[in-house]
Amino acid sequence: TKKNPNEPEFLQAVLEVAETVIPFIEENKKYQNKMLLERMVESDRIIMFRVAWIDDKGATQVNRGYRIQMNSAIGPYKGGLRFHPSVNLSILKFLAFEQTFKNSLTTLPMGGGKGGADFDPKGKSDNEVMRFCQSFMTELSKHIGANTDVPAGDIGVGGREVGFMFGQYKRLRNEFTGVLTGKGISFGGSLIRPEATGYGAVYFAQSMLETKGNSFAGKTVVVSGSGNVAQYATEKATQLGGKVVTMSDSAGYIYDADGIDGEKLAHVMEIKNELRGRISDYVTKYPNAKYFAGKRPWEVKCDIALPCATQNELNEEEAKALVANGCICVAEGANMPTTPDAVLVFQNAKLLFAPGKASNAGGVATSGLEMSQNSLRLSWSSEEVDEKLKGIMLAIHASCVQYGKDASGYVDYVKGANIAGFVKVADAMLAQGVV
Ligand code: NDP
Repeated sequence: TKKNPNEPEFLQAVLEVAETVIPFIEENKKYQNKMLLERMVESDRIIMFRVAWIDDKGATQVNRGYRIQMNSAIGPYKGGLRFHPSVNLSILKFLAFEQTFKNSLTTLPMGGGKGGADFDPKGKSDNEVMRFCQSFMTELSKHIGANTDVPAGDIGVGGREVGFMFGQYKRLRNEFTGVLTGKGISFGGSLIRPEATGYGAVYFAQSMLETKGNSFAGKTVVVSGSGNVAQYATEKATQLGGKVVTMSDSAGYIYDADGIDGEKLAHVMEIKNELRGRISDYVTKYPNAKYFAGKRPWEVKCDIALPCATQNELNEEEAKALVANGCICVAEGANMPTTPDAVLVFQNAKLLFAPGKASNAGGVATSGLEMSQNSLRLSWSSEEVDEKLKGIMLAIHASCVQYGKDASGYVDYVKGANIAGFVKVADAMLAQGVV
């Protein structure tokens, strides 16, 4: 706390890992007296920089850019860029720390990183977003590279932004390499990358449900968010026979008792990705649905909950409401959406609960597959990538069970994910000496 003042999200993420990993270290001699956890919480380096750009009115604007290069023990730094006004050092350090464990879990050789800026893409024209991205990349390009650090998208950074940043990197370096993932298909992107985080979260939830002889078929599903992760979680949950009844944004949620089917989801994608509108616009086209301004969807009765918006969006009271309403499974699509008190509520009720670092790892895993395709200079089919994604999610689930199952047979997926993620990074750090 003394070393990292005013960083509540970072401290929250570290505490959650420490609570499960310290007892494991105490039981395993080889990890003792090497300051492993102490070294892991210290970033390899943090880069902070000014991003100046000119808006459509000709006025100069200034934002702050960041890249946290957290840990490179098992591969080049890898993790998304977030553009949102709430971005600060604490949030990016928490995300980079989580990313290190998540990337380790994927079975692919990727270290942990995260970055972004306190820039708000909402209400900005395409030209403004492009000028911002070009200015941001002008500095970031000095610190990244296909074998050093490979950023991707996150909140506020989708295909449009990655495209603008890739164009600027190429212009500055005169080099066509896989320096970013989440690229367009015509310039090195991977099929299934846009779908991967949402699909992966549902595959993970499906694996958890199978341990209880259950599945998505016939289940009512509550989803939060309406961005990239929420959209594809909704699509896959529906394909597997679930009925998704909510989606949300930072202003409120919509409830559609008939379910958000393929056609309705296509409308959500149009609203959010093309018109860049609000989820409340949904009820204009589908008046049977209801919009609840200023509320979150956890009050809706469901079997499965998929928080896919942002950190700390599901608190203790809301967790109690979900349990009381008979929810059996919660899989995080977002990073750390469930507060620590709420996680305890789920675990005490013996719910199937998956932390984001396990259940949303499909996105970065598919980014890893994009890096492989870029290195090989070839592209795999959708089916091939989807099969690999499924295999990776199954492997992550198996690792969580291996390290998280207790004597009674209950699987603590938080403990399982933390320890499995820790072991691989710790072994690499031990082998590489005190660095
Ligand atoms: P998008 O920008 O596509 O969508 C974000 C969604 O979350 C929007 O619906 C947004 O609503 C909502 N949201 C953002 N901030 C808040 C807030 N403070 N309160 C309530 N709702 C909010 O981002 P993604 O879908 O890519 O990311 C969602 C989550 O998933 C994040 O936690 C991200 O870190 C995580 N994640 C994403 C991966 C990816 O591949 N994209 C990979 C792994 C994790 P609004 O439009 O009102 O802001």
